[in-house]
Amino acid sequence: MLMDKDILPKIVSLCKRRGFVFPSCEIYGGLSAVWDYGPMGAVLKKNIKDVWWKTYVEQRDDIAGLDASIIMSEPVFKASGHLDSFTDALIDCKSCKKRFKIEHLEKKAKADHCPECHAPINPKDIQPRKFNLMIKTHLGVLEEEAKPAYLRPETAQGIFTNFSNVLNTLHKKLPFGIAQIGKAFRNEVTTKSFIFRTREFEQMEIEYFVPPDKAEENYRYWVDERRRWYVENLGINEKNMKIREHSRDELAHYAKACSDIEFNFPFGWQELEGIANRGDFDLSCHGKTSKQDLTYFDEKTKSRFMPFVIEPSAGVDRTFLALLCDAYREEEVKGKTRVVLGLNKNIAPYKIAIFPLLKNRPELVEKAKSLFNDLKKDFVCIYDDTGAIGKLYRRQDEIGTPFCLTVDVETREDKKVTVRERDTMQQDRVPIEEIKKYFRDKFSN
Ligand code: ATP
Repeated sequence: MLMDKDILPKIVSLCKRRGFVFPSCEIYGGLSAVWDYGPMGAVLKKNIKDVWWKTYVEQRDDIAGLDASIIMSEPVFKASGHLDSFTDALIDCKSCKKRFKIEHLEKKAKADHCPECHAPINPKDIQPRKFNLMIKTHLGVLEEEAKPAYLRPETAQGIFTNFSNVLNTLHKKLPFGIAQIGKAFRNEVTTKSFIFRTREFEQMEIEYFVPPDKAEENYRYWVDERRRWYVENLGINEKNMKIREHSRDELAHYAKACSDIEFNFPFGWQELEGIANRGDFDLSCHGKTSKQDLTYFDEKTKSRFMPFVIEPSAGVDRTFLALLCDAYREEEVKGKTRVVLGLNKNIAPYKIAIFPLLKNRPELVEKAKSLFNDLKKDFVCIYDDTGAIGKLYRRQDEIGTPFCLTVDVETREDKKVTVRERDTMQQDRVPIEEIKKYFRDKFSN
């Protein structure tokens, strides 16, 4: 089943209204395919990255973290092949003058059509021009004397160039992985669909180094493991995910196998993450170009070889969009539409929202603020008294806050507060002295 197409404009509008995502440089008219993450978006993004880092770096002893530079020298990309072949083949439409990627030609009957204006394109006009997607700059004071450098188009290259450094500092045995989260930049041609394909984005990548004869089994393991992570750690509905294994003719020349984890976006099934068995291509290329020995010596077998690498490569921004699409729902409540982001409670930007029932009653405001100050030591909380209770609840539903806590007129007498749960809207009266335990239990399962 395809996700409702109309949901995307609603999500874009919610992101702006509630401070998840803003167009970059908006007061100057915006910057195409570049976005800023607002107060809610920054926290949601951090939560996604934290869960990934915790799962793969903190909770395993076979993967170490890295934070390599974004800006990298030209030889890196000469060796990796990006300078020569990280290109899109572009075509110009003679009717609407728009430029697009050759793979986006629409096949209608036997002719090709422009994906923008749908005008037929004469096969004679299909002479694609190559366009490198990397963003180039210069380091040094005088541009003509300065050395060219590039904003990395993927975080992976910083991992390969540090392979020996990490191995020598940690003395790890294979199989062993290096994980990195960070920004990457591509001068993308087709940039529709909100934050799906942007020119500045973040990746979460692991390069998992293995002996060549263990590559196939590790590749299978990572495909299953990464799918499991989206479902169990992020709470994405299994039905909205599928694995698509690449056919032989789709594979890059060096790749032994590749699978995409696809998500059911409102604009169709699309790649969320790619998992590839890249063989020894990357380390071999860097070893050859840099003239450094990047082979591995296996103490047990007393053999030296170039490790193979399995690469699970995920996009933070695409995961963010998938989470919102998966979680967004509208419900009819007492004749009104309630918009809810049903995010997993451990991923939601705020865990608890705290309100006084009436903002003109100083004793309620004071108690609510004191509870906020106490609870924020253990949970990410937000205090709000800028509207009537119904409005405050609706705001929190829209940003996915799992619990709202209200201090009301009875609180003074019975020493209890009202806790309202996002999904069921059920309300509990909870004694203040038990409130921390109450939330600890809620978040532990
Ligand atoms: P696509 O074909 O969709 O552009 P890709 O196959 O080029 O993606 P990879 O190079 O395999 O992507 O990058 C790994 C992951 O990084 C992707 O699965 C995606 O989640 C993310 N990613 C890549 N390019 C972008 C982009 N321009 N904007 C946002 N995320 C991206």
